[in-house]
Amino acid sequence: MCLFCKIVNKEIPSNIILEDENFIAFHDINPKAPVHILAIPKVHVDSFDQVSGDMMQKMTHFIQNVAKEVHIDKSGYRVITNIGENGGQEVGHLHFHILGGAKLRWGHFSDADPQGHF
Ligand code: AMP
Repeated sequence: MCLFCKIVNKEIPSNIILEDENFIAFHDINPKAPVHILAIPKVHVDSFDQVSGDMMQKMTHFIQNVAKEVHIDKSGYRVITNIGENGGQEVGHLHFHILGGAKLRWGHFSDADPQGHF
């Protein structure tokens, strides 16, 4: 069973912010911003590349509710999902990073030449 499936099953403790029948949101163990939450589906989905449109529709609503719950909906926030090796995904269970609580920086994403691909 994967790490986040164990969190869903409460085999591994987590600091839960919001939970419904389909999704769970908890604090990231290694926060990159004053607010750093992970939102995941309870059923195992490998990554965004595998998720159905149906699930995303519900998940979008859930993520918006998480932002309201922690009062970052008005000040603004960022939603990120890393996909696969080049995307930098470390945990192979779909998760959305919800980051906020301060003005976030925007920068270079790789050492490769950003003009180089096309
Ligand atoms: P990613 O690199 O997009 O796969 O992100 C995985 C995230 O999971 C990282 O930000 C980790 O800090 C976070 N993480 C790993 N283990 C745990 C855990 N047990 N509880 C909460 N967050 C975790």
